Amino acid sequence: GNRIGDRYDIIGTIGEGGMSKVYLAHDLILDRDVAIKVLNYDFANEEELKRRFQREALSATSLTHPNIVNIYDVGEEGELHYLVMEYVKGLTLKRYIHENGPLAPDQAIPIMLQLVAAISNAHHNGIIHRDVKPQNILMDEEGTVKITDFGIAMALTATSHTKTNSVLGTVHYLSPEQARGGMATKKSDIYSLGIVFYELLTGKLPFSAESAVAVALKHLQEETPSVRADFPAIPQSVENIILKATTKDARHRYVSADEMYEDLLTALDANRVNEEKFVIPF
Ligand code: ATP
Ligand code: MG
Ligand code: MG
Repeated sequence: GNRIGDRYDIIGTIGEGGMSKVYLAHDLILDRDVAIKVLNYDFANEEELKRRFQREALSATSLTHPNIVNIYDVGEEGELHYLVMEYVKGLTLKRYIHENGPLAPDQAIPIMLQLVAAISNAHHNGIIHRDVKPQNILMDEEGTVKITDFGIAMALTATSHTKTNSVLGTVHYLSPEQARGGMATKKSDIYSLGIVFYELLTGKLPFSAESAVAVALKHLQEETPSVRADFPAIPQSVENIILKATTKDARHRYVSADEMYEDLLTALDANRVNEEKFVIPF
């Protein structure tokens, strides 16, 4: 069969991205399944894409968190550049929302708590993800969610300018500052998390339009629509989290992922207290 680096037996293809393919493989040394992302052969000679691929490897390998897809190994075999990571048996959050959304707050908040914890961990390690979206989040069979694809992540060093890459995919989760082509900060990830929360609760995107440019403009100009307009049972405290995370002016957004985490916890508790009120005591 097909083997990479004498160590990994390729079992099949599990995904395809803009510049790479993801394979399911078996690690013969540790006797476990892994996912291997391989940079497309056509791109192996393009320095910029190779650098991006290596940057993903660098960013993600420094992170170890239960809600971040773990990178085990990075390798090069001739023209072949690959990244060996934890295999997440399940589906993307995008598909999960498509099949199960909209979710009630008591289902959506536990997912958000995991995602915000993961981003907090990245931020504390000096890394901005810059492309947080349900397509880059994997859910396993236990309902654990893990963020992946640190392909355009940036280290928060003094010299790094985190200008938005032109190779970006969907604009639906882009913060206003990124849509403007400006610098991404930690708060850009917080904005994207707010959009993901909106999508979990409503099953749809807050801003849609015919073209990517029109969507980007809405992110710049229009306030995030109320989730309570369509789902009046959603508590105001939950709506407020989305509004605070997706405020246009980054200065008024959550200061940190940790602050957002605290509000999510409080909202979850309040939600549970409300439920208890309706329990008939006999
Ligand atoms: P992009 O164009 O979004 O940058 P990419 O080439 O960087 O794409 P990913 O988004 O990382 O690729 O992965 C592509 C798909 O492969 C995912 O949407 C998912 O379906 C699958 N996949 C990626 N990593 C894993 C993993 N660790 N376990 C299981 N499936 C995975
Ligand atoms: Mg991706
Ligand atoms: Mg990528």
